[in-house]
Amino acid sequence: MDVVVVGAGVAGLSCARALAGGGARVRVLERGRVAGGRLASKRYGGRYADIGAAYFVADDPAFAAQAESWRSRGLARPWTDTLRVYPGGDPSTGPVRWAAPGGLRSLATDLADGLDVRLSTRVDAIPGDTDAVVLAMPGPQALRLDPPGAVAEVARAQTWQPVIAAVLTYPAREWDTLPGAFVNDHPLLATVCDDGDRRGDGAPVLVAHSTAALAAQHLEDPAAAGPVLAGAVGELLGLAARPEVQVHRWTYAQPSPPAGSAPYAVDGRVWLCGDAFGRPRVQTAWLSGRAVAQSLLS
Ligand SMILES: Cc1cc2nc3c(=O)[nH]c(=O)nc-3n(C[C@H](O)[C@H](O)[C@H](O)COP(=O)(O)OP(=O)(O)OC[C@H]3O[C@@H](n4cnc5c(N)ncnc54)[C@H](O)[C@@H]3O)c2cc1C
Repeated sequence: MDVVVVGAGVAGLSCARALAGGGARVRVLERGRVAGGRLASKRYGGRYADIGAAYFVADDPAFAAQAESWRSRGLARPWTDTLRVYPGGDPSTGPVRWAAPGGLRSLATDLADGLDVRLSTRVDAIPGDTDAVVLAMPGPQALRLDPPGAVAEVARAQTWQPVIAAVLTYPAREWDTLPGAFVNDHPLLATVCDDGDRRGDGAPVLVAHSTAALAAQHLEDPAAAGPVLAGAVGELLGLAARPEVQVHRWTYAQPSPPAGSAPYAVDGRVWLCGDAFGRPRVQTAWLSGRAVAQSLLS
């Protein structure tokens, strides 16, 4: 069986790995210069910061086994089960959140290892010369490839919110152990995480994620949201110093939870998978891609 997977995010890579493991011939086509999609780490001043997913949770047994494989090879580690919640700043205990010392994108690089992944390869139409095509991406991106009826219908039903991420580099660590915070009912700020803590190098770097409302106002000029987010973080944590600010825009950051429970959509030889098929999380994307592979192989 010959399969083309479009998109080298977690969903596409987990799909391709499972297909290759089952004996299929797989090519992964990715428009970006690196693999990972929203599992993203970007280099600023020689250091990687996580600018997409803040961490991952592994409470599905199969994905927990994947996390354990990363842990045993030093690629990922349990980070914290306690984040703060604002207003108030009280600690809140939840599931163990995992982080990656080399940046979360290093986990995508690991998933891509040994696969035929072609970077900087944008796909503009459904490839015709193959048994199956897997679109592993947000629905609005899949729609640009004009997929067949049932896949287009599911893609159209997805609703997505934007986020702007701001990487804030301070002269020194001025805050107590954070390690991360959910900020409720704030007009500008949704989360802030201590990137030095989660990466384990102690760098004085915080990463803030905007609310969808702020991102929507700044989709055309994301840089303008940087100082706004820096100001909101400074006020929240009582920081006096001014950070250096870099921003990244995610137009399709977070899907709303779906109505159904299917792990993917399919019409003929075209499949759609990704984190919109469940709670929008790294684990969901990994499971969705793998479910497509299992169906194709069976
Ligand atoms: C700001 C933010 C914070 C988040 N926080 C968390 C968190 O704390 N915990 C958590 O678990 N999850 C979090 N997430 C969600 C998590 O990042 C995603 O669930 C997961 O990475 C999605 O993977 P995916 O493979 O489904 O999609 P993506 O990562 O979006 O991958 C799609 C890929 O397809 C490629 N592509 C699209 N169109 C084409 C084309 N035409 N041709 C070729 N390639 C194409 C894209 O370049 C991309 O690489 C967060 C996401 C964001 C943006």
